[in-house]
Amino acid sequence: MGKLDIRNLRKVFADGDQSIVAVDDLDIDINDGEFLIFVGPSGCGKSTTLRCIAGLETVTSGEILLNGDDITHQPPTERDIAMVFQNYALYPHMTARKNIGFGLEMSTDMSGDEIDRRVSKVAEMMGIGDLLEKKPGELSGGQQQRVALGRAIVREPEVFLMDEPLSNLDAKLRTTMRTELQNLQQDLGITTIYVTHDQTEAMTMGDRIVILDGGELQQIGTPLECYYEPNNRFVAGFIGSPSMNFFDVEYSDGTLVHDSFECDLSEETREQLAGHEGALTLGVRPESFDVRGERGPETIAAPVTVTEPMGETTYVYVDIGDQQYTVTLTGERVAETGTTLELAIPEEKMHLFDAKTGEAVK
Ligand code: ATP
Repeated sequence: MGKLDIRNLRKVFADGDQSIVAVDDLDIDINDGEFLIFVGPSGCGKSTTLRCIAGLETVTSGEILLNGDDITHQPPTERDIAMVFQNYALYPHMTARKNIGFGLEMSTDMSGDEIDRRVSKVAEMMGIGDLLEKKPGELSGGQQQRVALGRAIVREPEVFLMDEPLSNLDAKLRTTMRTELQNLQQDLGITTIYVTHDQTEAMTMGDRIVILDGGELQQIGTPLECYYEPNNRFVAGFIGSPSMNFFDVEYSDGTLVHDSFECDLSEETREQLAGHEGALTLGVRPESFDVRGERGPETIAAPVTVTEPMGETTYVYVDIGDQQYTVTLTGERVAETGTTLELAIPEEKMHLFDAKTGEAVK
């Protein structure tokens, strides 16, 4: 069992006579066996939250419960939680075998034989069975990360905490390790919190994503919920690559008015937007534009400034008014620099946010 409840967690650092609120009133219930991803810009409080859960930081206020037990002030060694770091944090003078087994040696009264048996089993699982007598300096980055993961797994903890564990690996190895980690997490069924900067990891690896900004929770949901139903403009802009396009518009009398175009809205959307007359932000994902063959009453003329063919998709950068926007074309469809795309914005694909608060209104 590894049910973790984070209740009103707050962490304030003193920095000279200033205080930095790294985590602000964070409230998250993590299910037993769940794979939860933490994302957010640099400095949003991801690592601090993880370190509070591990017991490596003292908590300013709030509670952390593991299976209902308050562990907020327990020393790290007494928590049934294992952490994997970005820089592996292996002991350089110890062999891989010793690195993996060291935690068990120190914290349990398990016999040497039993530790050896468990280390060998985990090493086989991680595909490093023949590397156990080597020291970290003799191993590649990917192999070192497997040792670091093995060290966490061998403890059979209730919870894994992983702080950007794949970020030091090259792109190809990252992809392989990503799938391996997902399979491993599913096989072991151990509750896992995983911090990443990587959009692909955030979208593909976890059951749910937690999006943080400025120490505050912005949204928690499945990757697709966060993608298709962002709570606010921040989440809309953060999740998805290339990012959502944003237009400053004014809403009145059932019409969105931008400097370069207007959109008449349906009765249903007007009802949804009742009380939201005035400044709004219109969000459109790059793949949501309807690219038309010719000019029509509802199309926007968008001159193409740059194209990036990626294979199956092409990212096309266009000018609308004095700003640049991104359009994704798929399949064989391409666009030449210097030509003009005629774009329509399907109403069902429109996201609308309050211009001041950023909260989603549609
Ligand atoms: P990154 O993605 O860059 O690792 P992060 O989201 O993990 O960032 P944290 O490392 O948790 O962010 O930092 C959150 C905030 O707390 C930042 O403003 C950071 O400068 C501050 N902070 C973190 N640790 C300390 C510390 N020991 N003393 C003072 N401030 C700190």
